[in-house]
Amino acid sequence: MTSTSLPIPGAAPLPRRSRQARVVWGSRVVTVGGDAPVRVQSMTNTDTADAIATAIQVKELAVAGSEVVRITVNTPEAAQQVPYIREQLDRMGIDVPLVGDFHYNGHRLLTEFPACAETLSKYRINPGNVGKGDKHDKQFAQMVDAAMRWNKPVRIGVNWGSLDQELLAQLMDENGRRPQPWDAKSVMYEALITSAIDSAARAVALGMDPNQILLSCKVSGVQDLVAVYRELARRCDYALHLGLTEAGMGTKGTVASSVALGLLLQEGIGDTIRVSLTPQPGESRTQEVVIASEILQALGLRNFVPSVTACPGCGRTTSTTFQELAKQIDDFLRAQMPVWRKRYPGVENLKVAVMGCIVNGPGESKHADIGISLPGTGEAPAAPVYIDGEKATTLRGDTIVTDFHQLVETYIEKRFGQTEAA
Ligand code: SF4
Repeated sequence: MTSTSLPIPGAAPLPRRSRQARVVWGSRVVTVGGDAPVRVQSMTNTDTADAIATAIQVKELAVAGSEVVRITVNTPEAAQQVPYIREQLDRMGIDVPLVGDFHYNGHRLLTEFPACAETLSKYRINPGNVGKGDKHDKQFAQMVDAAMRWNKPVRIGVNWGSLDQELLAQLMDENGRRPQPWDAKSVMYEALITSAIDSAARAVALGMDPNQILLSCKVSGVQDLVAVYRELARRCDYALHLGLTEAGMGTKGTVASSVALGLLLQEGIGDTIRVSLTPQPGESRTQEVVIASEILQALGLRNFVPSVTACPGCGRTTSTTFQELAKQIDDFLRAQMPVWRKRYPGVENLKVAVMGCIVNGPGESKHADIGISLPGTGEAPAAPVYIDGEKATTLRGDTIVTDFHQLVETYIEKRFGQTEAA
């Protein structure tokens, strides 16, 4: 056997090098970019003119862990309701900053509804949807003026579904004059990046603080997103919002978003993320927040909830007991987090293992803070429990599940409960 004298280096995401912006509501400041944690964003799908429904969904998203929530502001009625949505949220103790998503008429809404402009914590401007011809620059400037007047950051969010067609036509003309023209995809990449960076330069020329500008260039293909963001990050140091647009539903949307965001975050690209998942019928909107959080947690960038390591099961597990226990523990830990975040600081770093048999059960359980190795087929009906790497007890009988539940709660209280001052 041969070995080198060097230890094998661990893998870790590369550091980010973006500017830092501040998204503020009241006393709540969410820093974005620079050395701030990568932030989870989400977006409502309620009619913003329905203030109550929107406030309720924003609350759900915030409780699920969304640190910034974007709402559509598309009509005067919607703009009018924004302060009332904020009021409802403040009344419920939800201090998550709200971002206004503007297309076509943002310049008018931000001017005609100053309370809306003041209430929002950030504006999203899509340079492909701010007006055509000579109106484009004027209306873009009106939105930037509003941002400066109310001291708000902006996200210049380009999307290939609404790319500035005049810019695209211009770049295609230029491409046609090249001795060796680029392929159509490369021109589209260039148009996305140019639209974002040129718009940011225009905003800076109008007086906007570059630190208060974030960029995004969303596309719906994984390899396209990786190519575009690598180049965008190479050409600028604005904070970047990352997301695979129109990712799709269920497994497809989850996997595509996870792969795309994972690849880029590992390279140190991306300061805020959103998983643009189409909810399954009846599925909660909060699923996109759960997935975004899981992506960051899986990469080791942030911890949001205690992690449960569970084996997949195999022919050694003929009962579903360990599957049920793993799910119950996972659901229980997740459900408690809104309260535990405050009561048990650091509990999100807890590692729990629920394993199906003796093969990997004891070993994996020892790696966790608290783990259980259930008896596989043919094993004695006993489940050793390991705490902090040591065998602590063995559970037996019909109450293994509830007994383990109790042990986890006791462990959390002991380790993360704050000692009352004497
Ligand atoms: S730990 Fe046991 S039950 Fe689980 S997958 Fe491995 S061999 Fe199968």
